[in-house]
Amino acid sequence: MREMKTLGIYVQVPFCQTKCTYCNFHTGVVSSARFAPYVQCVCEEMARHREFYAAAGVGLPAGIADAVVDTIYIGGGTPSLLDAGHLRRIVDAVRDNFVADLTEVTLEADPETVTAEKAAAWVAAGINRVSFGVQSFCDEELQAAGRMHRRADVYRAAAILRAAGIANISFDLIAGLPKQTRGSWRDSLDSLVELAPEHVSVYLLEVDEGSRLGGEILRGGKRYSAGDVPGDDEMAEFYETACAVLEAAGYRHYEISNWAKPGFASRHNLKYWRREPYLGFGAGAHSFSGTERWANAHDAADYVNAVMAGRLPVEQHEKLTAEGALEEELFLGLRQLEGIDVARIEREYGVSLDARFARLSSAGLIEREGSLVRLAPGRVSVSNEVFVELMK
Ligand code: SF4
Repeated sequence: MREMKTLGIYVQVPFCQTKCTYCNFHTGVVSSARFAPYVQCVCEEMARHREFYAAAGVGLPAGIADAVVDTIYIGGGTPSLLDAGHLRRIVDAVRDNFVADLTEVTLEADPETVTAEKAAAWVAAGINRVSFGVQSFCDEELQAAGRMHRRADVYRAAAILRAAGIANISFDLIAGLPKQTRGSWRDSLDSLVELAPEHVSVYLLEVDEGSRLGGEILRGGKRYSAGDVPGDDEMAEFYETACAVLEAAGYRHYEISNWAKPGFASRHNLKYWRREPYLGFGAGAHSFSGTERWANAHDAADYVNAVMAGRLPVEQHEKLTAEGALEEELFLGLRQLEGIDVARIEREYGVSLDARFARLSSAGLIEREGSLVRLAPGRVSVSNEVFVELMK
């Protein structure tokens, strides 16, 4: 029997209420008057995606063009800022323009934007999973990071979503925020466990020139509480604490940054690590057809102007080589803690991976069990080292 292909749809909403100090995403604070034209363009892009791709030189393999869409992820930015009617239009546009059998429809939300009216409308639109940018339960850290919500908002918003019937909630936390201490990190983890979301993501603070805080840290300055950022060793310890606390609370660590209660691993995000196809709509959205990767223009105004002029502004477009695809199999696949099936990869790519894995295995960084290779337990926080070795 032929395996049925499924497809994920990602929709990028690049608008926020303020700019968090650590943010290195292409998002902007704009007048709400710009929301409706943007949503109109996203729906237009979905309706005309085949024609737009053809004009931009993007090939859509036959199996993808008629695949069944089973997941939608509306991310950002802060998509929960949009009117519920806008979000409904987006979900309806997926149903109107694709073969849809939706099992997971995720909305990223900031806790302070949640109201009972919005939550009820989200459920009515078909949204069945909400991913919260909690980041911390400590008000001092939230304030230093430029976040709009406070600890009390997380409790209030989670209760509203539960009452509205959302049975799949994810919380994001960031390890390494300014002013974070061993004690405050433990408190954030304990508070999270108390609220019992089905899914958890823990990210380490990224320090690069792309954010105001990152730039300040690199320059050795003090603005944005840059002098109060935990060191690398502390961050590694925070990650280890998260692993222990979440495991004790019944979460399964299934990807380097992600934990889930049984049955609640993110179906949409698994597609990224398993190299399954997804199409992205909106400014800066990335797509993967199985053989090609491309991204739309990052600037929301450029994106809207182009779509209104009947053109898709593709900024990056790459046709993967066999070597590039193989590197992705290893780099993305090993992020999943269950590991990768080496026999399948060797068969599909006609290569032997023994030499690559032998070095890592003797260094104790990976473990092998038959055809499965996975990061060694306790070595997940050094996974970057593994990936650098693998790419040699
Ligand atoms: S809410 Fe998220 S996307 Fe928006 S500024 Fe903050 S970190 Fe960036």
